[in-house]
Amino acid sequence: MSTEQQAVTVVGLGAMGSALAAALLDRGHPTTVWNRSADKARPLVERGARQAATPREALAASPLTIACVLDHTALHAVLDPVADALAGRTLVNLTSGSPEQAREAVAWARGHGAEYLDGAIMTTPPGVGSPETMVLYSGSATVFEARRPTLAALGDPVHLGTDPGLASLYDAALLGLMWSTLTGWLHGTALVGAEKTPATDFTPVAVRWLAAVTGFMTTYAPQVDAGRYPGADATVDVQIAAVDHLLHAAAARGVDNALPELLKAAMERARDAGHGSDSFASVVEVLRRPAEGR
Ligand code: NAP
Repeated sequence: MSTEQQAVTVVGLGAMGSALAAALLDRGHPTTVWNRSADKARPLVERGARQAATPREALAASPLTIACVLDHTALHAVLDPVADALAGRTLVNLTSGSPEQAREAVAWARGHGAEYLDGAIMTTPPGVGSPETMVLYSGSATVFEARRPTLAALGDPVHLGTDPGLASLYDAALLGLMWSTLTGWLHGTALVGAEKTPATDFTPVAVRWLAAVTGFMTTYAPQVDAGRYPGADATVDVQIAAVDHLLHAAAARGVDNALPELLKAAMERARDAGHGSDSFASVVEVLRRPAEGR
């Protein structure tokens, strides 16, 4: 273990907290751990971690504490009674929460004399420690830069800005993208599966198609920012006609159509708002406000 590596405390040793602590140990950081259920520390202690008996002892052990518990209620349940021990230290909170909770947490931490960064881990536990993994951070740029070498043990540290709510905001947006994409893929898998195509045959084609889709996103992003959606590539009207083919194919094979019906409804709202001859990016105009009746 290198003595040059910064000492770090990890509070919360669920699936994710344990992976974070393991990644820090792998990089040679002297690592102190604490978890409500103490037995979860055992595998980490066997790898060289030091187990703190109390949250206070855990915070006192390192200038930097990384917290990863279930939610902000759990975070406060652990840290509120010992918050004075945070004075002069840095808390990096990788517990999922809302932007509002992140903004409250930075005020709470500063009230106790601590620096605070909020973060979001864009992987599951096996991906922790990989340089391919993004870990999003928001809050003070100075604190981020000071802690970056240590945070790099967890994955590629990406600083989004000084507003502490940004990491949670991006996290929510990116999870929405993931669920939409995965559900679209599973719907397609069910559709081709109705004709006995295995998911393992469909998926390489789907993955290749996603590369094209990311190209559409890159083309459409400046259109969204400009509020102008030239439909030179494909119009909303054309896509409404195309989604009918999906609806028909799925209905004919007994596959649930709730997802494409939802997509068609959004496209029709865009068309009804005057975007029929605009690009698909114009659908953002109707997504910015709830549909009538909702
Ligand atoms: P988990 O395995 O269920 O672990 C939950 C952790 O929170 C445990 O350490 C648990 O302690 C602790 N905890 C819960 N309630 C508590 C309370 N009232 N007081 C003290 N400790 C409490 O969950 P996880 O997968 O590690 O997720 C942890 C955080 O990481 C969540 O915010 C999650 O959204 C986020 N995250 C997870 C993933 C993922 O793929 N798993 C990915 C990105 C972000 P005990 O062991 O004592 O129950």
